[in-house]
Amino acid sequence: MLQQLQIIPIPAFKDNYLWLIHNGEQAVVVDPGDAQAVLDTLSALNLRLEAILITHHHQDHIGGVNKLLATLPNVQVFAPQLEHYDFPHTKLIEPDEVQCTSWLPKAQVIDLPGHTLGHIAYYLELEAEKWLFCGDTLFGAGCGRLFEGSPSQMYHSLQKLAALADDTLVFCTHEYTLHNIQFALTVEPNNQALHQRQLDTLALREKQLPSLPSTIALELATNPFLRCYSAEIQNLTGTKNKTELDVFTKIRELRNHY
Ligand code: ZN
Ligand code: FE
Repeated sequence: MLQQLQIIPIPAFKDNYLWLIHNGEQAVVVDPGDAQAVLDTLSALNLRLEAILITHHHQDHIGGVNKLLATLPNVQVFAPQLEHYDFPHTKLIEPDEVQCTSWLPKAQVIDLPGHTLGHIAYYLELEAEKWLFCGDTLFGAGCGRLFEGSPSQMYHSLQKLAALADDTLVFCTHEYTLHNIQFALTVEPNNQALHQRQLDTLALREKQLPSLPSTIALELATNPFLRCYSAEIQNLTGTKNKTELDVFTKIRELRNHY
């Protein structure tokens, strides 16, 4: 029976979440790195997979696609135009809008170079909620590593996400939030929202619940990579009177070695 839309995290590997959107009958999965985990969830909930959305080419995000297609050949795959994939897919680039199923609104494609050069996000506006599937670009209190792009590219990608509505739900792909908060506290120890987030996240993780989704509002209040204007961050990282891009570059570097 058709239900209200639901989103559930399918845990995979050490700390990935494969986000599954469903309506009680049909489903769409984002970044299925592990096919078996998706197949098990589909059969447990009696769902039919219709589409796969890919944010970038790393194995933990695409590793299950070929196996899913072998089992479910009618599933449509959507992936970044600027990257290469060995499975059939529809290529997407900003400002494409994609109707991946009949029961979801169109998703807006946002280009987010930085973690990889072709990385994209999917942004959906539903009646009551806004959803962002941002892969490995924005994390809870953190951001992805710069494997391919420059600090400037990543900084501008994050600024695009920071401009989304405050109440946008942010579906990140990794459970890195606690470790990110610990790092964030080293560069902004007097941020009360960050201390509160640490308590809230600890409570969730003790119950083995995901710390995600986050919201844009929460990230603006606690994520150091969106807070390069903060005087405290600048003072503690020796970047006073530098540009926000310089501050971003510095804290990304510090985080790499944390
Ligand atoms: Zn990645
Ligand atoms: Fe990843």
